[in-house]
Amino acid sequence: MKKFSLKTAALIASMLGLNLHVNAAPISLESVKNDITYLASDELKGRASFTAELDVAASYIANRFKSIGLKPFKSHYLQQFPIYSFTPEKISLSLNGITISNEKLALASTAKQIHWTQDSDVNITYIKDNHDFRSTLKKLNQAGGDHLILIDPTHQPLFERYKAYFHNGLTKLNNSNQGSLLLAITNITELEQFSASGKTTIANKTLTNVVGVLPGKSKASEVILYSAHYDHLGTRIIEEQQDHVFNGADDNASGTTAIINLAQHFANTRDNERTLIFTAFTAEEIGGFGSKYFSQHIPADNITAMINIEMIGKASKFGPGKLWMTGSERSNLIDILNDSLRKNNEKIYADPYPQEQLFYRSDNATLARLGVPAHSFSTTQLDQDQHYHKASDEIETINLQSMTNVIKALALATKSLTQGSVTPTRIDTSKVRASGKIY
Ligand SMILES: [Zn+2]
Repeated sequence: MKKFSLKTAALIASMLGLNLHVNAAPISLESVKNDITYLASDELKGRASFTAELDVAASYIANRFKSIGLKPFKSHYLQQFPIYSFTPEKISLSLNGITISNEKLALASTAKQIHWTQDSDVNITYIKDNHDFRSTLKKLNQAGGDHLILIDPTHQPLFERYKAYFHNGLTKLNNSNQGSLLLAITNITELEQFSASGKTTIANKTLTNVVGVLPGKSKASEVILYSAHYDHLGTRIIEEQQDHVFNGADDNASGTTAIINLAQHFANTRDNERTLIFTAFTAEEIGGFGSKYFSQHIPADNITAMINIEMIGKASKFGPGKLWMTGSERSNLIDILNDSLRKNNEKIYADPYPQEQLFYRSDNATLARLGVPAHSFSTTQLDQDQHYHKASDEIETINLQSMTNVIKALALATKSLTQGSVTPTRIDTSKVRASGKIY
């Protein structure tokens, strides 16, 4: 068979008026700058969930995906879904005939109503002064079901924080009843009888992921998922501060920009044997609901790897353009990526802040719970960054050259994955902490 030369191809293409990319289109600082500048602009008011501005951001990303040439996912770039909020309205409790005052009660409930007595199927837990309140509550939350929790008054400060959190309203992907946690501050440590009631208002709203697909040539059923959350905190009035917009330039307009520009890169090179899916997740900041919904609408077994990008806008502690990965001990993904980077004398580092549990603090954890080698990639200097979750997380603080180099490194690092020549080991789900059922 005759060798088909690129020169001939280019000549034919130019005759046909096509622009053939003999070399991969480079990931450019200009393009990176355009995307992040818009996503982090005041115009989008900090991209909070349930705001019109987040929808504007979604259509910007969808339009970028479309113009790049990505295919829609299941015929839509916008993956819309309902989400439910549960706000407690009325609570009352009497213990051994004594009424507990309202400020000493807190309710986290996924039931419309509760009516409990000592004869109900309710689990009772005492949190005494020497008990670990937080971890006890976490376990009950993971178990689900109905719980009355009697808490020693020494835990009042932490109780107040949970109460504020619960009474703000819980957000859940479905409106089925997973159970209720009724918390009471009391000295009572032996219970003969009790009577509890509570009412919860359930409302629904809509959220939107943005998803684009670059179909694979020979291994189309195997997916490499590139993701980043595009939501942030919105606006907040803080006394003595002029700036109310939490722009989230680093968190996570930077990651969103990365997936757009990676999509552009791979659409240009078009040498992916596996299918590449690019997803901008919504509602990460309020509980990772975008990734949870997405993971329920694609078979996890089909996802070969998830490259989740979080806060890559600044030089890392390893230097500009150098990134690190969370949970590197849980799969061999980092070795695969570093095999590809070695020829350029580059490498991806292991997460330098393991005590921060960052593996659990982004959308990758949801897919990891399903066994996907799902990791987050970042450059953030968590212990030093003055702008994290502040109104000052602005485009001016971003090192665009470092960020562009990180995106280039990710393109190179994941090349063997996209071309289907390597497959990372799955994550052992028995070693991944479960998420809560109620809050
Ligand atoms: Zn983030």
